[in-house]
Amino acid sequence: MNSPTSLSIKFWGTRGSIPCPGPDTIKYGGNTTCFEITCGDKRVIIDAGTGIRLLGKKIMLEEKNLLEADLFFTHTHMDHIQGLPFFAPLYNPNSNVRLHAGHLAGDKYDLHGIIGTMLMKDPVFPVPSALIEKACSFNDYDCGHEFSLEGGITIKTGQLNHPNGACGYRIEFADKVIAICTDTEHFEDRIDENVVTLAKNADIMVYDSAYTNEEYQNFKGWGHSTWQEALKVAEAANVKQTLLFHHDPSHNDEKMDQIAEEVSSLRDGVRPAIEGEVITI
Ligand SMILES: [Zn+2]
Ligand SMILES: [Zn+2]
Repeated sequence: MNSPTSLSIKFWGTRGSIPCPGPDTIKYGGNTTCFEITCGDKRVIIDAGTGIRLLGKKIMLEEKNLLEADLFFTHTHMDHIQGLPFFAPLYNPNSNVRLHAGHLAGDKYDLHGIIGTMLMKDPVFPVPSALIEKACSFNDYDCGHEFSLEGGITIKTGQLNHPNGACGYRIEFADKVIAICTDTEHFEDRIDENVVTLAKNADIMVYDSAYTNEEYQNFKGWGHSTWQEALKVAEAANVKQTLLFHHDPSHNDEKMDQIAEEVSSLRDGVRPAIEGEVITI
């Protein structure tokens, strides 16, 4: 049981782009993006990649299938939404899950349209979104908006540098801070002040570190960053713990171990996120 003032993060999915289960990714995980943030006795979920299926299973077993929560999307690329139809608590009409997305302002689609007419719509998926809509509501907000949630939780949002847009999150609770900065690409000539603002003095920053500097040369403009940039941001924003995230599917456990060893020698409190781990502050 969490203490009333503890803030924790659980990584239900650490992988970017596509799930990659198998013997080579057992340690760092193969599921795509999903975070469970626990603020005292309240829960905030970020992203609904394939990792959210296991979170749903836990809720079904431990909380009788009923869920009251806010779920914020960083954006709606497939690796961040594809688990939603497999999130079992949404099929209980008594659940109340508020879905939020901040990157679609001015877009031709809103969040409801993306879930209802692109993700959960035949012939792409056999179960219509109507079956989950009693349990959820859809909220499109403008990135930059600040949320005050019940229980003393503040969520600040900020624009990231990613194709089709993405929003980063700064979760503040009981004088503690967790910053989620994925998916985002750094600028080569300057540090991204939006990211620094989100992560300023954070206890934990999760940062898109899909590539090494060497690999990045082949993927400029794809919307992802490097662990080398994570170190720069951590320094500029005075972050205590930095979790490298959005692991590239081509990075097996051996490669991730190499990265872990390299970063730990350069700055204290920096390492790759591991699927299933919980960090409490
Ligand atoms: Zn992604
Ligand atoms: Zn993306």
